[in-house]
Amino acid sequence: MNRPPSLDARLEPRPPSPLQEVRDERFAARGVRLLLKRDDLVHPELPGNKWRKLAPNLRAALEGGHDRLVTFGGAYSNHLRATAAAGRLLGLRTVGIVRGDELAGRPLNDSLARCAADGMRLHFVSRSDYRRKAEPRELARLVDSAGAGGAYVVPEGGSNALALHGCAELGRELRGAADVVAVACGTGGTLAGLAAGLAPGQRALGVPVLAGGFLAAEIRSLQAAAFGGPAGSWTLAEDFHHGGYARVPDALEAFAADFGSRHGLPVERIYVAKLLWALAELTASGAFPRGTALAAVVTGRP
Ligand SMILES: *Cc1c(COP(=O)(O)O)cnc(C)c1O
Repeated sequence: MNRPPSLDARLEPRPPSPLQEVRDERFAARGVRLLLKRDDLVHPELPGNKWRKLAPNLRAALEGGHDRLVTFGGAYSNHLRATAAAGRLLGLRTVGIVRGDELAGRPLNDSLARCAADGMRLHFVSRSDYRRKAEPRELARLVDSAGAGGAYVVPEGGSNALALHGCAELGRELRGAADVVAVACGTGGTLAGLAAGLAPGQRALGVPVLAGGFLAAEIRSLQAAAFGGPAGSWTLAEDFHHGGYARVPDALEAFAADFGSRHGLPVERIYVAKLLWALAELTASGAFPRGTALAAVVTGRP
């Protein structure tokens, strides 16, 4: 594939990300080897799965001659921040359509302030208008009304077909290295792509951080769009959301702080902490046979 040299230089530093085995007695006692796939180290400014998902979209935008990206997110969205940083690195203008018009005219929170500092123009819309973007004609109207007509559109959370192909590369990097590869899920796009890239005999395990039980259907439809049908082997462990998105009960906070100090890993709380907790619980309950090599994908940093 022909890539503009600027993209290779500024956007595509150094996969594969490191794979580190850690010694943790909670896993060792059950005969399980624990490996950390350090995708938080994949790019200095676009960590983890956000880089995996954005890179193929940025390439498509540049190859399509676009000079502007538009995307969507809530007030604390990692995806908005990553898109803003990518725009700055590549010299693309970015527009962020933000859920919640009550935020307009108020001081920006730290996350949105970083988006703005990276040059992203923020456009606030009501929750009901934001929801309507699921409908293609409404989406076009929303993009126009944000003054971003003709921009390359990256969906909320960045999970489109190209993004899944980027995440399949993460799976390919883990071939032969583990029996089970586990990842925390928001939209499920990372799991859907990861599963497709693993070798036969390997399984992907997703830990949803949102309550609701809607994710399996979502993953099937993402895979159908990207790969034409089901791809790879995957399951979900649905009982580890701790009350819902961004909820961090005291016990989870204590677990994450302890894991971080034992292993020198900065544990991101919204996704990665729930993943590691789930793996410790599942291991303790005997969910993995002795001799299992278990890789946890560290998708981001605090
Ligand atoms: C966005 C994000 C996820 C969720 O990825 P999906 O592809 O939406 O499931 C997981 N971990 C971190 C750190 C994230 O920022």
